[in-house]
Amino acid sequence: MVTLAELLSQAEQAAERDEHARGIELALRAEAMAREAQDQPGLALALRLLVTLNSREGLAEQAIAAGQAVLPTLRETVNDAARADVLCNMAMAFLDLGLNQEALDHISEAVEAARASGDARLLCLAYNRVGLAKGHLGRYEEGERFLNDSLAMARELQNEEEIYRALTNLGVVASDAFDAFESRGDTAAAQDAIERARRHGEEALIVARRSGNAYREALTLSNLGRYLGVSGRERAAFTLLDHARALALENGHRALVLACDGNRAELLVREKRHDEAIPLLIEALAGAQELYANSMVQDMHLQLYLAHKARGDLAEALTHHEAYHALTKEQLEQRNDAQSRLMMNRLELDQALFGAERSRMQAELQRVRAEQMAAEAERLQAQARELGRYVLADPLTGLGNRRQVERELPRLLSHSARSGEPLAVAVLDLDHFKQVNDRFGHAVGDAVLMATADLFRARVRGGDLIARMGGEEFLIVFAHASLEWAREACERLRLAIEGHDWGQIAPGLQVTISIGLCLASAQRDGAQLLEQADLALYQAKNEGRNRVVVAAL
Ligand code: GH3
Ligand code: MG
Ligand code: MG
Repeated sequence: MVTLAELLSQAEQAAERDEHARGIELALRAEAMAREAQDQPGLALALRLLVTLNSREGLAEQAIAAGQAVLPTLRETVNDAARADVLCNMAMAFLDLGLNQEALDHISEAVEAARASGDARLLCLAYNRVGLAKGHLGRYEEGERFLNDSLAMARELQNEEEIYRALTNLGVVASDAFDAFESRGDTAAAQDAIERARRHGEEALIVARRSGNAYREALTLSNLGRYLGVSGRERAAFTLLDHARALALENGHRALVLACDGNRAELLVREKRHDEAIPLLIEALAGAQELYANSMVQDMHLQLYLAHKARGDLAEALTHHEAYHALTKEQLEQRNDAQSRLMMNRLELDQALFGAERSRMQAELQRVRAEQMAAEAERLQAQARELGRYVLADPLTGLGNRRQVERELPRLLSHSARSGEPLAVAVLDLDHFKQVNDRFGHAVGDAVLMATADLFRARVRGGDLIARMGGEEFLIVFAHASLEWAREACERLRLAIEGHDWGQIAPGLQVTISIGLCLASAQRDGAQLLEQADLALYQAKNEGRNRVVVAAL
């Protein structure tokens, strides 16, 4: 199994070796794998490779689609250098498709990105593309100005590649300007323009030769041949075109061979050497058709139409005129199709981004809701705990109430039975409490109950249970306590009550307590145990109160 990193590196190597088709295949596989793995950096790299490779291969639409897919990431990650590069390639692809406004928009952003990246070579490249795009739009002067700026930067950087590119494109734009001036009948401006094209072409040739790149040399010779030819230097022009054709043929650049023939035929037509031009054009036309080189096919039909018309072969002329127009129409339709496909791409992309944003928002919403629910659950639990305390607590003293005893006592008893740890229960009842109420009032009675509870709380261990069973009767469960230990504890409680300074609550107030104590045993359940403790209390009351009585076993 090949990894994503391996695929990407293979695609990069293919791109370096100008193996475009192979590179595209590898990059497409990398793209699919990166999407599968949701590897964003890998996906961005695969898409960037697809932009470069597709635009080099002349697959404008594919280059643009890949560019549209990767641009949001490059903007987001502030990768200005990559963004400038992608935008330049996209702009060229838009120009190929005749989508000039799109091209200019992308180029403006490319210039901005190149500036932001601080990479002079990228700015030089962006300026080159701006110049070329302006030229395509018929704004030759502006185009040449940008290309001259690009050339100056390239010279400063001593970058031969960019110098060559700027010179070549300067030649192309000046030559297009020549065509425009000539068709308008502005001979002087036309001559100026073609003169500039020739000078740039000559210089480009020197740079191309220095690079040792046969394709560039042949292309430059072919261009230069045309510039010389249309400016009236036919002999020199044909020599250069011969040279260019031979070089192109020798190196297997078939399209370039046809371009040379096209240039030669055009010059022949201009010189009215129609009989020589027509067979050359017919042969070149067949070759161009074979290569699906549509714009070349179109040019050749145009030249054939002009040649036949000049010769008076009106039927032939009409045929080529129709073919020319059919191709023009086809080209326009293709541009329209491409434009709408690209619009659809962008729409899909926008929808994907929208979808991603929506799921991010939904996830966030869910998180917030989960938080709210957790908070609500916590609140309800706290409320339930509070309610539980309320249900099991005596409101006056804060001690447990009878319900708590009913709930806790069986649990404590069964624990004691299982562990063998002894457990004792005391029932404690204030003596003559009715009289306290009668003499000092109900409020003092309440204060006595609260103070009694506090005295108990302070003297009973944490694991023991204290409750107010009702009225002035309390209950204490001594866990892990022998009868003797519990009896002593009760005695301490009795003394604590007796010795307490009740005068604080009401002058002259005296309080005592009677206690019945009983030890738990396997023979008695909770109710029986309480009954026995009550009996002991009853006995304590009968024996004169303010005492502890232990129930007989
Ligand atoms: P004994 O020594 O036999 O226990 O006599 P006693 O007066 O304490 O017993 P009795 O059962 O006759 O009276 C209990 C009194 O406790 C009656 C009632 O007024 C009073 N009482 C019960 N609950 C409360 C209360 O919540 N607050 C106050 N202040 N008094 C209460
Ligand atoms: Mg009492
Ligand atoms: Mg009582």
